[in-house]
Amino acid sequence: MSLVLPPGVTRAAFDAALAAFAGVVGRQWVLASDEDRETYLDIYAAGDEADHAPSAAVAPESTEQVQAIVRLANAHRIPLWPISRGKNFGYGGSAPRMSGTVILDLGRMKRILEVNEPLGYCIIEPGVGFYDLHDYLTARKIPLWMSIPGNGWGSVVGNALERGFAATPYGDHTANICGMEVVLPSGDLVRTGMGAMANSRAWPLFKHGFGPSWDQIFVQSNYGVVTRLALWLMPQPEEVLTLTMSVPEPDDLGWLIDVLTPLRIRGVLEHPIGITSYLSAATTTSQRSEWYQGEGAIPESVIREIMSKRAVGWWNFTLRLYGHAEINQARLNVVRRAFAAHTRQQFQITRWSAANPTHGPGAPAPTVAPLQMINWHGGRGGHLGFSPVVPPEAGRVLEQMHATRRRYDECGIDYSSTFYVCGRHVTNINLILYNRDDPHMTANVHRLFDALVKDSAAKGYGEYRTHLSYMDQVAASFDFNGHALQRLNETVKDALDPNGILAPGKNGIWPRALRKPTGSP
Ligand code: ADP
Repeated sequence: MSLVLPPGVTRAAFDAALAAFAGVVGRQWVLASDEDRETYLDIYAAGDEADHAPSAAVAPESTEQVQAIVRLANAHRIPLWPISRGKNFGYGGSAPRMSGTVILDLGRMKRILEVNEPLGYCIIEPGVGFYDLHDYLTARKIPLWMSIPGNGWGSVVGNALERGFAATPYGDHTANICGMEVVLPSGDLVRTGMGAMANSRAWPLFKHGFGPSWDQIFVQSNYGVVTRLALWLMPQPEEVLTLTMSVPEPDDLGWLIDVLTPLRIRGVLEHPIGITSYLSAATTTSQRSEWYQGEGAIPESVIREIMSKRAVGWWNFTLRLYGHAEINQARLNVVRRAFAAHTRQQFQITRWSAANPTHGPGAPAPTVAPLQMINWHGGRGGHLGFSPVVPPEAGRVLEQMHATRRRYDECGIDYSSTFYVCGRHVTNINLILYNRDDPHMTANVHRLFDALVKDSAAKGYGEYRTHLSYMDQVAASFDFNGHALQRLNETVKDALDPNGILAPGKNGIWPRALRKPTGSP
């Protein structure tokens, strides 16, 4: 990948900035060859990789080095894009929003600073991967369980900062952040919450602190570089009951939403519940050509063949009950009663307990197996996620499902979707799989994505997270009072980062010098 310079920066000025960075981190940690740049591209890009091309990367090993780099970036007017491990797959990977941005790779900062077993938290640096923390806990037999997203390759901090989630009681990862250490765009260093006291004893214990609460300001934003984060972990439960069920028709989704939502809101079920369409049973274990070689999206007859050969339903889901056996049994009774009104099917149940750990799944473990799905079409595979938040009502969810499926059909893309029942909302992750080497297919992917963003916005549903290429479009759909939220975000951006050096364009927030008129996608 040839060099694209940051806007307004000459080659000489760029080289001078890299030399200054090298003075802080050492020459070997400034990565600026063509090959280096390629490593930080979006490996699943459906469009031109050059849309989000980094100019170099710099990899500090300490908070002090991050501060020094940020100060130099201000002096040399070099934009920086922080990444923790850069595995934000489906949303841009390690690539920056704006071409020419230098990646601030925090992967070397990977210390697990504290794990507190009785109080259930850890304090970690951004480079700590899900595998690292899992190894640490298992090697020391610490009875705390992690919550791990489908692709366990990334970092615990990076995932929480993007509002990643998983189907566990602690699955809303950003909600389990309790205190951060942040390098501001000025280079200043703050600790949030109770950590703002130099001798705090309660930093990872009380989320709110005194006065305004800042943790969530640094989530999905470009207001700071998080160098340390405290995250709550779940105490190992006494028992886990795992209940699985499949339902045969697309419209069964409706009653499932109506049954599961009150159980979630009332706390009978405590985790996001993923209701996943049939296709994932095929995408991770086979290629599309083994099932269908015709034109357009997979037809219903092939869908039924996949369901029968893979022994799955149109929708498939797992419920888990965690805790004391007596309480689980009472909850199981309530769940069974709620389902009995709609189906005669019984759950398949496995029972894990600390005393009998070989029965059924216990502690979550990281895996990258689901990434196998990108091989669905062959070629250089890729995936995108379209993720609107929908009210948990059968009618609305069914309408959203059918409308989305129609768009997939129009664009000849196989419909693949999970509806996560999260209590007062449903997060609908629609997976778009493609072969990056097929320009006709990738053009259809963009046609599909554009249509989905517009359709959802028209219904009042926004996305919870999106790919770099769609950040402006999604941000523009949050349009109350002439895009008042955008104005607020920009006011904060200008105050904290007047030189606009941190992650320009992240989540649609641009520094003043690079800003288009408010609300324009
Ligand atoms: P992961 O390795 O878990 O996949 P990434 O490192 O790809 O996560 O991070 C996802 C996104 O979150 C990044 O593109 C960046 O916008 C933001 N981000 C990640 N780490 C930090 C951090 N330490 N400070 C500020 N923003 C971050």
